[in-house]
Amino acid sequence: MRMPMIAGNWKLHKTRAEAAELINGLKSELAGLAGVEVVVAPPFTALETAAAALAGSGILLAAQNCYPEPTGAFTGEVSPLLLKDAGCRYVIVGHSERRQLFGESDEFINRKVHALVRDGLGVILCIGETLEEREADRMFDVLRRQVRHGLKGLAPEAMAGVVVAYEPVWAIGTGKTATDEQAQEAHAFVRALLREQFGPDVADATRILYGGSVKPGNVDGLMTQPDVDGALVGGASLKTEEFARIARFQPA
Ligand code: PEP
Repeated sequence: MRMPMIAGNWKLHKTRAEAAELINGLKSELAGLAGVEVVVAPPFTALETAAAALAGSGILLAAQNCYPEPTGAFTGEVSPLLLKDAGCRYVIVGHSERRQLFGESDEFINRKVHALVRDGLGVILCIGETLEEREADRMFDVLRRQVRHGLKGLAPEAMAGVVVAYEPVWAIGTGKTATDEQAQEAHAFVRALLREQFGPDVADATRILYGGSVKPGNVDGLMTQPDVDGALVGGASLKTEEFARIARFQPA
């Protein structure tokens, strides 16, 4: 009952021409694919080009970040409304790179979540523990804090537009994927947190993606886990064949 989502986070990669080329490749590789929501998140400068290339394809557009105010004196920032105007359906927030490299707090991320919900955009909220936190047995505390604070103040109905992505930081860009069992354990825990915070219906309906070195060779096992509803893919989303194979995952 949860529509799987496979989302590609392109990070700081791809000129407009390269974005159009990758999207055209995906359109032909994924033609006729049903039963999965495919999303790509190019850098801001390629959004308009990507929106034009995606038109009519069924592949949805996402941005990688936003600022939680609609307009104003915020030099260098981009609002949910501008992203909507550029053709975005989703925005990724709380990625570990933004938390670690740009010092984003749970409170700031929560403001972005509210701004996106207010302006009618879907949210992909990233959460996940570092290796140090996992080794210190703090994984569950970290996930609890990130979910509670990240989604604080949302009405249960607003959760219809929210997707959570569990991305253990030690697995991002490292080639080290969580095992199927580690992913399932974390996802089941996140679903239990959603149940506490929003009730059983929201918990059952909310998609929880796994992210962290997802590749064609490991996606099928991950997607076989009952609480893994899709993947947020970094490196492998930059190559047409790899991302297309991930979107065509085949759970056992
Ligand atoms: C990411 O950046 O969200 C990610 C999961 O990256 P990678 O797939 O390269 O580990």
